Amino acid sequence: MSKRDYYEVLGVSKDASKDELKKAYRKLARKYHPDVNNEPDASEKFKEAKEAYEVLGDEQKRAQYDQFGHAGPQSQGFGGGFGGAEDFGGFGDIFDMFFGGGGRRRDPNAPRQGADLQYTMTLEFEEAIFGKETDIQIPREETCETCDGSGAKPGTDPKTCSHCEGTGQLNMEQNTPFGRVVNKRVCHYCQGTGKIIPDKCNTCGGAGKVKKRKKIHITIPAGIDEGQQIRVSGQGEPGANGGPPGDLYVVAQIKPHEFYDREGDHIFCEMPITFTQAALGDEIEIPTVHGKVKLKVPAGTQTGKTFRLKGKGAPNVRGYGHGDQHVKIRVVTPTNLTDRQQEILREFNDISGNQPTDEQHGTFFQRVKRAFKGE
Ligand SMILES: [Zn+2]
Ligand SMILES: [Zn+2]
Repeated sequence: MSKRDYYEVLGVSKDASKDELKKAYRKLARKYHPDVNNEPDASEKFKEAKEAYEVLGDEQKRAQYDQFGHAGPQSQGFGGGFGGAEDFGGFGDIFDMFFGGGGRRRDPNAPRQGADLQYTMTLEFEEAIFGKETDIQIPREETCETCDGSGAKPGTDPKTCSHCEGTGQLNMEQNTPFGRVVNKRVCHYCQGTGKIIPDKCNTCGGAGKVKKRKKIHITIPAGIDEGQQIRVSGQGEPGANGGPPGDLYVVAQIKPHEFYDREGDHIFCEMPITFTQAALGDEIEIPTVHGKVKLKVPAGTQTGKTFRLKGKGAPNVRGYGHGDQHVKIRVVTPTNLTDRQQEILREFNDISGNQPTDEQHGTFFQRVKRAFKGE
């Protein structure tokens, strides 16, 4: 069940403007609307275009889609019928046009779930490894406490809109290419809410909601990785007409570390050693996020050799143990040698006969030699 890319469905580029999206969607809706197109796959195509536009037409959902694709955390909410599309400029027009008086319309008084919110949290490398508890401040809409969300001054009540009789829609007759139809339009007296507020609440100006910075306690689990997110249920924006609130998604963004790299649960680092340590062997200390660890470097260690420190990586975020730390050895060639050091090295070179002594590399150097002789 692979889903087509929403941009592909609408036939627009990834950086299409809101206007281009709307136009593309309208064109498809006109072409495939079940009322005008009887072909068997038309209604599927119509639904596909509608779903694509519901996501891409909404800035927040579009951003989520761009980041997470169809697997986006809100994808389960995307297909939510015609009612979910609140800020749907062009959508209403199309329905006005095709459905005339018979179109399905959202009941302005039906409960609606609040919008989901997304918050990006930047974490230090170690914070992501060990997790942390923190409070974040997020700006979100809250139900106005003064009017308890009604938008009316305390002691007064909103009145049913007399123009639309509380339905939130007005009937308008119009000539269209399909004949004379009765259009339902959003009632502009009450903005489709079906209610008029004669005395508006001073705190929220009649909106019933106020923007507030809300403090929320967040637990970041140990081992969280770049781009992973935590869902905080019910901490999105409040619902309308008694609907449930949306959810808050906290997305982890992890700062790079100057010594460690991370891939999943494994940590990688590069450890410089001197060429004497590499040749003679040594016991060296390796920093890990869990503290220093001693590592025996055997005599004759080549640069690029990798050692694994078991269990010294990040904990698995789902609790399946720990990753490892992989230590890649880099043998550093000495520079700025003193006369005495140079002398010793020349002597070393003389007695080793200018030949690599390592077996494995011996064969490699033999190949180089043969190449020089043109064999
Ligand atoms: Zn208020
Ligand atoms: Zn009205």
